[in-house]
Amino acid sequence: MSPLRPLDQSSKLKDVLYEIRGEALVEADRLEADGHAILKLNTGNPAIFGFEAPHQIVRDMIASVPNAHGYSDSRGILSARRAVVSRYEQEPGFPHLDPDHVFLGNGVSELITMTMQALLDEGDEVLIPAPDYPLWTAMTSLGGGTPVHYLCDEQREWQPDLEDIRSKITPRTKAIVVINPNNPTGAVYSREILEGIADIARENSLLVLADEIYDRILFDDAVHIPMATIAPDLLVLTFNGLSKTYRVAGYRSGWLAITGPKEHAQGFLHGINLLASTRLCPNVPAQFAVQAALSGVQSIDALIAPSGRLHEQRDAAWQGLEAIPGVSCVLPRGALYAFPRFDPEVYEIPDDAKFVRDFLVAEHVLLVQGSGFNWPATDHVRIVTLPEARVISDAIERLGNFLASWRP
Ligand code: PLP
Repeated sequence: MSPLRPLDQSSKLKDVLYEIRGEALVEADRLEADGHAILKLNTGNPAIFGFEAPHQIVRDMIASVPNAHGYSDSRGILSARRAVVSRYEQEPGFPHLDPDHVFLGNGVSELITMTMQALLDEGDEVLIPAPDYPLWTAMTSLGGGTPVHYLCDEQREWQPDLEDIRSKITPRTKAIVVINPNNPTGAVYSREILEGIADIARENSLLVLADEIYDRILFDDAVHIPMATIAPDLLVLTFNGLSKTYRVAGYRSGWLAITGPKEHAQGFLHGINLLASTRLCPNVPAQFAVQAALSGVQSIDALIAPSGRLHEQRDAAWQGLEAIPGVSCVLPRGALYAFPRFDPEVYEIPDDAKFVRDFLVAEHVLLVQGSGFNWPATDHVRIVTLPEARVISDAIERLGNFLASWRP
């Protein structure tokens, strides 16, 4: 037998990073295997923190199983796509949506991947927020494109910096990604900012990619304005799904809704259809969960109310972080995360990945470093606000103690 040829990962993956499940998670798993209890605050996975799946969704999905063993239409079953259409019909000002322009996916993640593969040629640029949900950057790179990060301004509650966006447009800019409410910052964008982004997209003929998976997870008086309602005259791809609002991330169920003019984009839309066909279809039982979820009781409302669990946890995280000397945190207005800043005058953190690993080893709490969200400095971490308030408060107290004695 000839010697086995070494196998490396493909060069396409050289810029593909996903630190939410990176090296620190490997270390956390190792510590767990050694018998330590690790609090994993790295993923926005409600189920592992005691959130139950809404009973109606579980019931309808189970009922569907005996008849859900065949492939479906590549875009997804019609009843679920119609349920998505009805959902947006209830959204004031949302442009006309046809079930033919709704695609279901194995989570939003699959649809992001398909979109970037269908859209990008070598060197095409995509404007992506910094910080971002890193799958957008990763899939832009995998698709052969170039991620170009625009800054969100911490001084202005993490709203996107329109001037910075403008300064980064080039003839190769093809699309802009808007994540609202935002992961990791919890920002909910103002109408003025969204209109500013739409103007830039209009002036530069950009495709708008709106990741709105947290649109129903809002606190205080925050209001979510769908990007498609701001730009009905533009091609807007709206991404959403069941993972967060309905706490069923493991079912892998999401959708993509395409609105606005399409004549100019027939080739791209053909590409999306083609890739939808090549994956045959999304998991069929999980598609039955879509209609059950969208037409049933919206149980998230009780969780985000001032007395609700998610609201209390958000408060506990924010208050705990603000109480640590040299740490500040913009109050998250939506989503499931806090993104605190360590004042560089107080804490020297040359390598935030090492900081996260050291904290894990010392205190058995797993966070994700800010640079994992393409934040250009090493002065932030992301904390998932899903555990009960007392657990969050305890974890943040441990962070405060750790910071007090930490040296790089
Ligand atoms: N988009 C954002 C902003 C997210 O935070 C996540 C998951 O955390 C996803 C997309 C992926 O969601 P899904 O479970 O639908 O694949």
